[in-house]
Amino acid sequence: MFGRAPKKSDNTKYYEILGVPNTASQDDLKKAYRKAAIKNHPDKGGDPEKFKELAQAYEVLSDPEKRQIYDEYGEDALKEGMGGGGGGHDPFDIFQSFFGGSPFGGGGSSSSRGRRQRRGEDVIHPLKVSLEDLYNGTSKKLSLSRNIICSKCTGKGSKSGASMKCSGCQGSGMKVSIRHLGPSMIQQMQQPCNECKGTGETIDDKDRCPQCKGEKVVPEKKVLEVHVEKGMQNGQKITFPGEADEAPDTVTGDIVFVLQQKEHPKFKRKGDDIFYEHTLNLTEALCGFQFILTHLDNRQLLIKSLPGDVVKPDQFKAINDEGMPMYQRPFMKGKLYIHFSVDFPESISPEQRKVLETVLPARPSVQISDMEVDECEETTLHDVNIEEEMRRKQQQAAQEAYDEEDDDDMHGGAQKVQCAQQ
Ligand SMILES: [Zn+2]
Ligand SMILES: [Zn+2]
Repeated sequence: MFGRAPKKSDNTKYYEILGVPNTASQDDLKKAYRKAAIKNHPDKGGDPEKFKELAQAYEVLSDPEKRQIYDEYGEDALKEGMGGGGGGHDPFDIFQSFFGGSPFGGGGSSSSRGRRQRRGEDVIHPLKVSLEDLYNGTSKKLSLSRNIICSKCTGKGSKSGASMKCSGCQGSGMKVSIRHLGPSMIQQMQQPCNECKGTGETIDDKDRCPQCKGEKVVPEKKVLEVHVEKGMQNGQKITFPGEADEAPDTVTGDIVFVLQQKEHPKFKRKGDDIFYEHTLNLTEALCGFQFILTHLDNRQLLIKSLPGDVVKPDQFKAINDEGMPMYQRPFMKGKLYIHFSVDFPESISPEQRKVLETVLPARPSVQISDMEVDECEETTLHDVNIEEEMRRKQQQAAQEAYDEEDDDDMHGGAQKVQCAQQ
């Protein structure tokens, strides 16, 4: 029941289909796909299945985000990640977006799918989550408002089902406006007709559907339950296919939630690992320590040093399997890194010094003779705030550079004036 080993076997197929190594650059992929797609295009007698496979492989590998998922988790992870239903692009779409139209130009033979419906826009919502949410998984209910096709008129907008040509645009849905930019310059602009909102038709006032007032859609409140799974990342998308605004003759777009992780006061996340800052005092650093760390699921971890171990300032130590759970493999976890700072005492008394000298390592054995000391010049060490001093010096340098530039500008300006006079 414990962590299955990651499947590594099924993430090579797409590369094999395109005949490239898995280190191929985007350029290599493009070339390989172009060659293979032309060779296997059904219009040229190629195998439609093979053509579809090629398009699918290229669609995934040409998208850096999808490619990374595929490389790490294989084909299945992509299907799951697309939230069901999604994903399935028409191979001809990809082919055409690639070549900007069929290269075999045959008049009628374009696509197997006839009339294509407009696709509605996707609606993107940011979704704030805590690091605890991403560690433990959670579900959030969100109430959203969207348009749905009016049930009374089934999206026709009228009682009779009849509509008339819009008089504003003669049914074309577009209006051309002309702007005069100068005495002999005209700009023509095409815009969706404002009277019919680009549909090309209007409905008689008396015939309007009483429920939607001729708008064809009505607002609806809907509660969506978003499942945030263990190990999801900041920026990860959770898609609800076909849940965006409905409109007549339109394929409904998706509602997409984009996770935004709030800063955590104690933990920082990097991939599957978690970082924690802890400060020891000098005694703890030298003689050992223990402390309790409350994890993201409220478990109390006892963190303690090994006997005789010394922690140096800025040192990292790690606890295995106490990092973030891995997405879709939550039994496997990253590491919990602890970054140690050490608080030194500000000063020590002469008595303390005597005691310390007896236990700490002896001073370096290089002795300076009295004669050498006599020949040296005395100096004094001052306390400094190094960051503050460096910042001030940088500002000074920037100001000087700016002043110099100003001088240059004046010369440049003078030259320009001379040129203009010639
Ligand atoms: Zn119109
Ligand atoms: Zn209606």
